[in-house]
Amino acid sequence: MTSAVATATEQPRVNLLGLSLRQMEQYFLDMGEKKFRAQQVLKWIHHAGVTDIGEMTNLGKSLREKLLAVAEVRPPEIVSQHDSSDGTRKWVIRVDGGGLVESVLIPEAGRATLCVSSQVGCSLDCSFCSTGKQGFQRDLSAAEIIGQVWLAIKSYDAFQAGNGRIVTNVVMMGMGEPLLNFDNVVAAMDLMLEDLAYGLSKRRVTLSTSGVVPALDRLAKVSEVSLAISLHAPNDELRSQLVPINRKYPIAMLLESARNYIDAQRDSKRVVTVEYTLIAGVNDQQEHARELAVLLKEFPCKINLIPFNAFPQSGYQRPSGNAVSRFWQVLVDAGFVVTVRTTRGDDIDAACGQLVGQVVDRTRRSERYRAAAETQAITVS
Ligand code: SAH
Ligand code: SF4
Repeated sequence: MTSAVATATEQPRVNLLGLSLRQMEQYFLDMGEKKFRAQQVLKWIHHAGVTDIGEMTNLGKSLREKLLAVAEVRPPEIVSQHDSSDGTRKWVIRVDGGGLVESVLIPEAGRATLCVSSQVGCSLDCSFCSTGKQGFQRDLSAAEIIGQVWLAIKSYDAFQAGNGRIVTNVVMMGMGEPLLNFDNVVAAMDLMLEDLAYGLSKRRVTLSTSGVVPALDRLAKVSEVSLAISLHAPNDELRSQLVPINRKYPIAMLLESARNYIDAQRDSKRVVTVEYTLIAGVNDQQEHARELAVLLKEFPCKINLIPFNAFPQSGYQRPSGNAVSRFWQVLVDAGFVVTVRTTRGDDIDAACGQLVGQVVDRTRRSERYRAAAETQAITVS
């Protein structure tokens, strides 16, 4: 048999990087092995940063050989890395099939938040979002999602140094709608929380959704991560223009589902983060703020205002600082906890925006990522 024929008939290798503890245990049981092997392999991959199965010495030689024939540990590939003078580090990552996604690590006092992508592109087509303008290419695998965390830690050589503590928080706020890639996102988030992997607290992992209500209802049954909802408008008419999925799952349904989500958590102090991207002349008037205050009056939340991050052909403008302050003031006067993403000169934005502009899209996404970090600032006590 020629090697070409052998390759054509070979099963694809299982990428162990993306298996949660439970999935890994099942994998070993199916192989006729003891399930404690899963714990050993998880630690090799996510604590020690080891990708070579041959180096996993406590597995024993015959199991290593068996695994080498059918499995692999394969992180996605970094195309480029960009460092800002303020410590922000951004990666452009190539996934199987050639798609590109970004992840960004934003270090701040006492923490570092990694903004992770869940899909290549997005099908939901929010009118102000450059990812939406790209259309949808495909879901990321669980390995490609958790691989962004793995790569971030690896790039700081931090696996050996301290169990990966270089990443203290994760927000699912990169490219894509995480709830439309449910199983892979849940498996990856399980690994983020799993002590044998990254051991993050559930308060330090946040999923942001534009409002896929049935999937959010499902999430309440399987996950305890923090929740952010992308509201962006105080009424259905306006929200349906900005976030088309609102036509299917309007605001009242989304708020009810989000409330049920936090009610299902054991920790009674938790609140939902409401994200509100401010777009000049569209949703940034004081009357919008007042309407929002009424809408959210009884809703357990904190509000994160994100001044619109412009990109070519978006057709939208960022509001003035004064308009943002006025909007903020109305909400603060109404008793809400409100954070605003303020613009900061960021020396890798432009370069990165250009690079991503060539290969993926045109937006300067870093500011969005900073907003993501702020979400964590107000979610994590
Ligand atoms: N799909 C998910 C998560 C990714 S988007 C969601 O929509 O929630 C993360 C956040 O960035 C969302 O609140 C989104 O509305 C916001 N966002 C997208 N494009 C933006 C832009 N151009 N300016 C400011 N915020 C933006
Ligand atoms: Fe998709 Fe979120 Fe962008 Fe909307 S804002 S198009 S849901 S990534």
